[in-house]
Amino acid sequence: MKTFDYVRADDAVAAAGKVGEVAGARFIAGGTNLLDLMKLQVETPERLVDISRLPLRDIAETGDGALRIGALVPNSDLAADPRIRRDYAVLSRALLAGASGQLRNKATTAGNLLQRTRCGYFYEPASACNKREPGAGCDGMKGFNRILAILGTSQHCIATHPSDMAVAMRLLDAVIETVDAKGQERRIPIAEFHRQPGDTPHIESSLRPDELITAVTLPKPLAGRHIYRKVRDRASYAFALLSIAAVVDMEDGRMADVRLAFGGIGTVPWRSAELERHLKGQRPDAALFSKASDLLLADAHGYGDNDFKFDLVRRTLPAVLQEATRGDGA
Ligand SMILES: Cc1cc2nc3c(=O)[nH]c(=O)nc-3n(C[C@H](O)[C@H](O)[C@H](O)COP(=O)(O)OP(=O)(O)OC[C@H]3O[C@@H](n4cnc5c(N)ncnc54)[C@H](O)[C@@H]3O)c2cc1C
Repeated sequence: MKTFDYVRADDAVAAAGKVGEVAGARFIAGGTNLLDLMKLQVETPERLVDISRLPLRDIAETGDGALRIGALVPNSDLAADPRIRRDYAVLSRALLAGASGQLRNKATTAGNLLQRTRCGYFYEPASACNKREPGAGCDGMKGFNRILAILGTSQHCIATHPSDMAVAMRLLDAVIETVDAKGQERRIPIAEFHRQPGDTPHIESSLRPDELITAVTLPKPLAGRHIYRKVRDRASYAFALLSIAAVVDMEDGRMADVRLAFGGIGTVPWRSAELERHLKGQRPDAALFSKASDLLLADAHGYGDNDFKFDLVRRTLPAVLQEATRGDGA
């Protein structure tokens, strides 16, 4: 067991300061991911700054139609909030598709966004992993890569981002709010938050080391049918092989607005503007839906065991689009 400091802070800026003053220090919120990684010595922080008692547990309307979610709101409270269930159903459904009841009671909004990949090679210190040890190589590329990514991969890493919640938040264009040790605040659109691996797979987000997430803001609700479909090996308590978040608003038999985001296949929560443009304004149609899968997969790359994800997308995406448009067109 590697020893580490454990400290608490009274406010958000002080917490950021306590992380900023020790290289490799980490915030700990629910601890459901970080503690597992520490037990395996995948993460070996010199200091843990416990933020779990900071007053960041409110869900509040902002006055301009948005909803601000405190960084420490537990996943179960967020999923059950009446405003989330009514106005952001895709998010509530994504949260309930993740983990288990006990875990969702502990897991926090910010911790969920920053949870690390479930790639088996990342969790196994005897394996080569560029994310865990930059420059070591990637055993996942030629190994057992069934759960790994086909979109956004690089020659250094093919690990998926495992979060369900983040997929729905990507669809909703959530904005992540932070504060640093000097008290400077930042608002980061979720599209710029998670980083694809490129040459630096160990850098997973655009957060600076001393930046604390304080809240996540959801813009005004989206009209239309909200769906979250998760395909996995077991009916519960399993990470996505593929997940699709969809919000489709129909007008006069056409898809007036279409938003889609994907989990389980990308190195980050995935969205394709081209795909959404292809569908927007169109009438539901089997050929159109089939072309949608082709567009999504145009730049995808399979690594052997995970090649089945191409077929999985080709079957699941049209089914989700059919469900989203059912009764309003073809
Ligand atoms: C068995 C199991 C099954 C699971 N299944 C699923 C699933 O199906 N779908 C899914 O989406 N998730 C799943 N999870 C993951 C779970 O959702 C995450 O572990 C959880 O959301 C992490 O939240 P936490 O508050 O416990 O984070 P922690 O473990 O406390 O922290 C995680 C990371 O976030 C950082 N952090 C936390 N809060 C902040 C903050 N405010 N500012 C900056 N950094 C911060 C920490 O430093 C750490 O690096 C599963 C987990 C387990 C153990």
